[in-house]
Amino acid sequence: MTARHAERTAGDRPRSRRTGRRLRRLVAPLLLSAGMCLGTLTAAGPAQAVDSTVITSTQSGGRTVSFTFDDGPDPTHTPNLLAVLRKHNVKATFCLWGDHVRQHPHLVARIAADGHRLCNHSLSHQDMGGWSQQQVRQNLEQTNNLIRQAAPGARITYFRAPYGSWGQSPQVAAALGMQPLGWRLAINDWQPPGTGELVRRIMQGVTPGAVVLMHDGGGDRSQTVAAVDQTIPQLKAQGYTFDQPAVR
Ligand SMILES: [Zn+2]
Repeated sequence: MTARHAERTAGDRPRSRRTGRRLRRLVAPLLLSAGMCLGTLTAAGPAQAVDSTVITSTQSGGRTVSFTFDDGPDPTHTPNLLAVLRKHNVKATFCLWGDHVRQHPHLVARIAADGHRLCNHSLSHQDMGGWSQQQVRQNLEQTNNLIRQAAPGARITYFRAPYGSWGQSPQVAAALGMQPLGWRLAINDWQPPGTGELVRRIMQGVTPGAVVLMHDGGGDRSQTVAAVDQTIPQLKAQGYTFDQPAVR
């Protein structure tokens, strides 16, 4: 099964309530794609040297690995995962749904306070593959507004397209200061196969410099949390250190 298919099956129900409106002015130059007129942007954070490359590797390369978690925040599994990561002193990246951010803003603040990186994963996990840049931009800005309301001042470093269906989103994400974030290893944890199997998939699938895709939201992710707890010491024992995904 392909990684794209894996992501496609991983979502859960979109929800739509009030719309975050607080706009923040951009304070530094942006990398604008040719022909795009973005006007006043919702800042993804201080200007970063991002580009539209979908990155799948860690920043440092070598014997490092990056854990990334999609579809949260989840009121049960995200706090459990944060506790596991804190116990092992590992920093990870969380790719957030705007609708879930709206429901659980305090968890976004906790993620940021723990030093993890934030990633925009769209408002309601839509397939943006056929969208115009304008449609993508509105969705990404709405999501960033919600994240910024939940965690004021936090940098939103990455964007990950739902289902890996990128379409024109990498250019828009880069113009908004977010590095498109892919993955090299997906453990297909949307349908929990047992903690032991997830551990096996991580340990056998990981390669130096890999970005690993897992989920802390969108379903029962207790097996994922347990697998993370077990694999971190094993990876460290093999000489791996934990890094964040590259920003170009
Ligand atoms: Zn997802």
